[in-house]
Formats: sequence, structure tokens, C-alpha cells
Amino acid sequence: MNVLDSELVDGQLRALGLAPTDQMTGADVILFNTCSVRQHAEDKVLSRLGQLRRLKSRRPHTVVGVIGCMAEREKEGLFAKAPHVDLLCGPGELNRLPGLLQEVWERHERVTALAGSLSRRTEVLARAMEYDSLEALDLSRAPQTGPAALQSYIRVQRGCDKFCTYCVVPFTRGPERSRPAAHIVAEARMLAERGCREVTLLGQTVNSYVQQEAGRAVRFAELLERVQAVEGLDRIRFVTSFPADWDEDIFRVMRDYPRIMPYLHIPAQSGSDAVLRRMRRTYTAADYLRLMDTARRYVPHVALAGDFIVGFCGETEADFRRTCELVERVEYNTIFVFKYSNRPATAADRNLADDVPTEVKIARNRELLAVQSGIGLRRRRAMIGQRVEVLVEGYSKVARQAQAALARGDAPLVQESEQDRGAEISRTRAAQLVGRSPGDLIVVFPGGPELIGGIVTVRVEEATPLTLLGQVEGVVSPPRAAAAAEPGASSVRAAGAGLSLPLLSASPDACAG
Ligand code: SF4
Repeated sequence: MNVLDSELVDGQLRALGLAPTDQMTGADVILFNTCSVRQHAEDKVLSRLGQLRRLKSRRPHTVVGVIGCMAEREKEGLFAKAPHVDLLCGPGELNRLPGLLQEVWERHERVTALAGSLSRRTEVLARAMEYDSLEALDLSRAPQTGPAALQSYIRVQRGCDKFCTYCVVPFTRGPERSRPAAHIVAEARMLAERGCREVTLLGQTVNSYVQQEAGRAVRFAELLERVQAVEGLDRIRFVTSFPADWDEDIFRVMRDYPRIMPYLHIPAQSGSDAVLRRMRRTYTAADYLRLMDTARRYVPHVALAGDFIVGFCGETEADFRRTCELVERVEYNTIFVFKYSNRPATAADRNLADDVPTEVKIARNRELLAVQSGIGLRRRRAMIGQRVEVLVEGYSKVARQAQAALARGDAPLVQESEQDRGAEISRTRAAQLVGRSPGDLIVVFPGGPELIGGIVTVRVEEATPLTLLGQVEGVVSPPRAAAAAEPGASSVRAAGAGLSLPLLSASPDACAG
């Protein structure tokens, strides 16, 4: 969600005549797009803000702003912690950002746009009035061009009404509101026309999507069906789903339309019913397991991903064992594990003791990842010899490092007698591409820039717990002109606007579902 917000803000800043820069010291505007899901993410923002004090005193006209969830959560208190900040803007007020910047430039005063301390009921009414301008912000997005256009996010929903006891999102992003289906489809069409091949529909609980249209309710399954029909799109994904709101029609649509990728990210958070109750997740571990079984019945090759919080208030060793058992039983392709981090003003903060020692949280985090590492390796090794279709995103991280080393003329890190072999290895690594399978698995393989932006068939030859390695066997669909590769093109996932807009988020999906 934060990545998409950064992209929208990037468009707003460009419309004001600003351009991204990688020179923080020369920037006229420095915005931090922030995440509040964990304390660690907020600490990083405060530390980065602290580093700007001297720059701000040298260049007082540089506007320093904090946008996103941390601005909303901390409110004006952030000015006390970082007095050189000029602007605060919550995630539900981003449509007001250009006006706020004008105010700072003209009046040289601090400005804020926050949801305030309205009650949720008053807030719903106030938000309904503001909704049109937020909707206009999404519709006004300046689409990426070149390789960056290949994959895009589309917001289908704002906010969340679940109030899981550990989560700040309902406070920082406000009530759940679904966007009109026609707007979402129009956005998908516009992105496809500009070379986008894969869209990911985003919502905190995306499967709860419902929007009234001509007197009837359009639900998420129908929205998926409409988006997959957009000409030019090859792949449709969605994150993140809330287990208790699942609707079997979504599985039917996934089964019937091959452009909807066989990938489901459904956070479980815990395998213990006692912990799930304290988290107010409204489902049991058995409910969750039934849902996973149903998913595999409809879409047998579906790739499953899940989120887990370890060390939540009162989590015993026995509770944690149930989580490990659930992970073993589901056999995920990927999991994301977070150590519980108490967030001020949440129900858990007010009513429950954060009583699991840090070292226990760290040990459980490590153990759960180790459990998944074994499963991930097993599942990926089972794919050796298979062919997978891969959307080629760009050069791998290893390749970009090797390219940079070769450009600098760095000697390979091998003994002198092995220099030639080392140089050969560097050149081989420099030509390594990366892409994603339909199940969102990372696949690396040798190839040239002419493949970037295309869909290729890769024969899997090796596997690690997180990656498949193989060789290209054929091109399923070549790159399209609008998203064709540029020399040196790297990852093509949407990103923030360089150093003028640092994206300080724990993970794009860490706050969802
Ligand atoms: S964890 Fe997800 S579903 Fe629960 S309140 Fe936060 S955003 Fe909503």
C-alpha cells in the first residue's frame, strides 16, 4: 500500500514541477512515507529525520515532511521529536499534499493534514465527504513508463474495520471503503495500454471488497472477473485476504480464469486458538486449515503464502508449537514472520501485557523461519525438471552487483591463478535475469536484456529455500514496446521517487490482512 502511495505522491510532486533526485543534500522537498506497524520502522524514520537536522539548518528552505501512518499516529507530537519537520500528512489526506506544500512555501509555517481525533462515527461521515478527492488522487496517477510499467498496484479498498487488537491500521488509515469497480477497471485498462502486464489489486482485506452499483452489490469475485477481462493484462494478483471473510466464488473465478494467478496470500497470524482470540481475528486454526484445503481443492497448484506474528501477548510455548504445526500442515511456499511489536493505543496495548521476552520472540522468529526454510526447499526441489512461465522483471541483484564490479574494473575475489575463471564467473553472473512464476516464486536464469519484460518458459534445474534456478527454453510472449528493456534495467517493481521520497516501510504488506 505504501509503495502505491509513494507512486501517487511522486505524480503529485512531478505535477508541481519537482523531479526526483538521488542527492538528498540538494533536494527542495524531502518526504518520508512511513509505516507504523512496528516500532522498528518508526525508529528508523526518527533516526533518518535526526540526520537531516544539520542539512535543514544549512538549507532552511528545504521542506522536510512526514507522510503516511506515522504522521497520523504521532500527530503534532512528532514536531516535538523532530522540530525541523515542516509538514505532516496522514495516509487518508494525501490528496491535500500539493496544497500543503504551497502553504509551506508561501507562509513558511508548519502545516498538518491529519484525520484528527474524531470518533469513528463522525469520522465515517467526514471521510465520505473527502472520499471523492481521494478517489481523484488514485485516478490521477501518473503511470510509470519503460520497464517500471511492467507491474503495477491498483488500490481497490481503503482502510480497515477489523480492529485486530495489535494493529494500528484502522486508526491510521480509517474505515474500510471500497472503490467503484468501474474506476478500478478503467485504471487497469489505462495501465495495460501503457505496457503493464501484471496488476496486483490491493486492500487491507481485499476479499471483503463490496461496492454498490446500479442497486446491486459487486463483490470481490466479480471485480476479479472484470479486471481479468481487460485486454493486454497477462497476470492478475491480489493481496491481502482476511480468512474469515472468504467467499468461495473467489476460488471459482481463480479456477476458471487462467490470467488470475494461482497465488493466495492469506495471513494466519497464529496456529493457536487462544492467541487468535486475543488478537480478535474471528476465526480458529481449524477454520483457517479448512480454507487452505478448499483453496487446494479448487486450484490444486495454488501457491500459498501467509503472515505470522510470534511472541504476541501471552503466547506460550504450547501456543507457538501449534503455529509451527499449522505451518507444517499448510506447506506454504512462502511465509512472512514478524516479532510482536506493541503499538500505542491499540486494544492489545491497553488491555494485554507484552509479556513474551525479546529473546524468546527472536528465538521463535528464527525457529519458524527454519521450519519454513525446510518446507520451501522441499517444495521447490519438487519442481526440478518442471517448466514454469516467468515474467522477466530485469537483472537479478547478483547481476547488478557483478555489472557494477565489472564497470569499476574490480578484480574478482579469487586467487591470481584463478583470475580468468573469476572474470568468467563475474561475466556469467552479470547476465543473470530474475522473474516470477505464476505462484510468485523467484526464478533466476541466464539471459540477455532482450528478454526483459517478456514471458519465457524456464526449465527448473536447481532450487534453494527461496529461489528456483534454471534455463530459458522458449519465449511465450516477447516484451511489448512500451515496457521493453533498457540497457542496465534492473528490478521493475514500482518504487518510490528516489531519495527525495524515501519509502520507510517495514514491508508493503506487513500491515495487511
Ligand atoms: S491486521 Fe489486517 S485485518 Fe487486522 S486490523 Fe490490521 S489491517 Fe485490518
